Amino acid sequence: MTVIEVENLAKRYGETVAVRDVSFSVEPGEIFGILGPNGAGKTTTVECVAGLRTADSGRITVLGRPAGDPELRARIGVQLQESELQDKITVREALELYSSFYPNPADWRELAGDLGLTAKLRTRFGKLSGGQKQRLSIALALLGNPEVAILDELTTGLDPQARRDTWDLISGIRDRGVTLLLVTHFMEEAERLCDRIVVIDKGAVAALDTPAGLINRA
Ligand code: ADP
Ligand code: ADP
Repeated sequence: MTVIEVENLAKRYGETVAVRDVSFSVEPGEIFGILGPNGAGKTTTVECVAGLRTADSGRITVLGRPAGDPELRARIGVQLQESELQDKITVREALELYSSFYPNPADWRELAGDLGLTAKLRTRFGKLSGGQKQRLSIALALLGNPEVAILDELTTGLDPQARRDTWDLISGIRDRGVTLLLVTHFMEEAERLCDRIVVIDKGAVAALDTPAGLINRA
């Protein structure tokens, strides 16, 4: 079964057309990339897939259900660019809080270990480095043992080493059988990680192919 299906998505904010016409589908176990310049409509697209925004038109299904269906909440893990965490909350408190949101949460200690956060459990969010914040937000997205994870610009602002570590991490998440929708504006990142990539420009699909296919075209 196709995991995510987006057909002719359109979304505007007042006068601003954020997404004009975007369609793609994501197969089980894929790492599917959404690549495009700033302002292309990537975040809006994934927010609609995650059910955090309502499309103006078009059709989106996730795991066979319409986007936004409450059933999906525990089955999709979402890591968005802007964290809603308060600076004062500690890593441990955040992990415990988010665990309480899910019926069958993952073991947060284990997840923290996998993400290299064990030494930071008592550190407040506001005191974490950019890479640590990023890893915590990935951990929070995975706490519910989701079937689908949506990760938005997860390496923006990271140094090259932290970026490579994060790439390894993403491959590891896929190896657990999670289907991944990954937003990025780095071609290199999309090329390394993704099975297929949709390139979005000015709210519409400019190309949809494997990384090798995209490179051959260019
Ligand atoms: P919503 O209106 O869907 O609740 P937000 O809470 O994200 O959206 O944003 C509130 C307001 O802030 C928007 O209506 C818009 O005027 C402005 N805004 C937020 N993000 C952006 C952006 N990326 N570009 C332009 N304006 C923005
Ligand atoms: P990307 O993720 O590719 O940078 P976005 O989906 O964030 O693209 O934004 C697409 C367009 O919609 C941009 O022109 C942006 O300024 C605008 N936009 C995004 N969010 C809002 C908002 N909440 N209110 C108004 N305009 C927005």
